[in-house]
Amino acid sequence: MGDDRQLKRVRLGVELSSHTPQPEMVVAGAARTCYSAKELALSADELTPQLASKIITRVVQRGHLSVLEHASFTFAVEGLSRAASHQLVRHRIASFSQQSQRYVEFTALEYVLPPTIEERTELAEDFARFIGSAQKLYRRLREAGVPREDARFVLPNASATKLIFTMNARELLHVFTLRLCSRAQWEIRELAHRMLELCYQVAPTIFSLAGPGCRRGPCPEGDMSCGKPWVPFWEE
Ligand SMILES: Cc1cc2nc3c(=O)[nH]c(=O)nc-3n(C[C@H](O)[C@H](O)[C@H](O)COP(=O)(O)OP(=O)(O)OC[C@H]3O[C@@H](n4cnc5c(N)ncnc54)[C@H](O)[C@@H]3O)c2cc1C
Repeated sequence: MGDDRQLKRVRLGVELSSHTPQPEMVVAGAARTCYSAKELALSADELTPQLASKIITRVVQRGHLSVLEHASFTFAVEGLSRAASHQLVRHRIASFSQQSQRYVEFTALEYVLPPTIEERTELAEDFARFIGSAQKLYRRLREAGVPREDARFVLPNASATKLIFTMNARELLHVFTLRLCSRAQWEIRELAHRMLELCYQVAPTIFSLAGPGCRRGPCPEGDMSCGKPWVPFWEE
């Protein structure tokens, strides 16, 4: 078994580090510009938050989703496993910057422990032993002069990572549709939930439209449906 001091179990941390200022005013202003014969609607004084909310609801119902692309949101995430980050980076309409296993030395291996393993003491002990031996082998390879880019081959999927990523509101609604569904993996589902909580605070009209397919109609999962329609936290 490896040296326990070199191991650190970590938990998910999610921050909304930046976003388009007044995202709903920007989106509504853009939508209005499409239909207005007057000046550019973004600078129009009469655009109030209440009117912006009405405009957004109307255009989104009509499927005019491109206006949502004017609002961007940047997240800082840590304590996410490589197993989950691999799923996250499959979303292509986004910009990602992820901590590199080529440039960063993993002197203390930070790892994520799935609840299904944590709740069974014996399995949790085996899991910790395995992580410890991976860390030990990583150190041995590095001490023998193996470059980081090769030593990292022994790091497990449980290894925690850090990312900064930016998505626009249209892509976020798509990500929430896929990743809030109970069919999504538990960790990326938790990440999506935490992201939605943060987005809803700054753009409640836009993100009141978020949720898996069952929020808008019958579950699209067919035989694989969980049978439990998703309820957003603001309606609980
Ligand atoms: C429950 C679940 C299980 C999954 N299982 C697997 C699996 O077993 N194996 C696997 O490989 N992946 C799997 N995935 C990942 C999945 O296939 C997608 O890669 C991932 O969800 C990204 O979604 P996306 O491609 O719709 O959207 P994004 O990449 O976020 O893009 C958003 C939208 O933009 C459009 N778009 C983007 N790029 C293109 C393009 N090149 N051409 C045309 N339109 C484009 C599409 O409309 C797309 O929906 C799974 C995902 C989920 C949610």
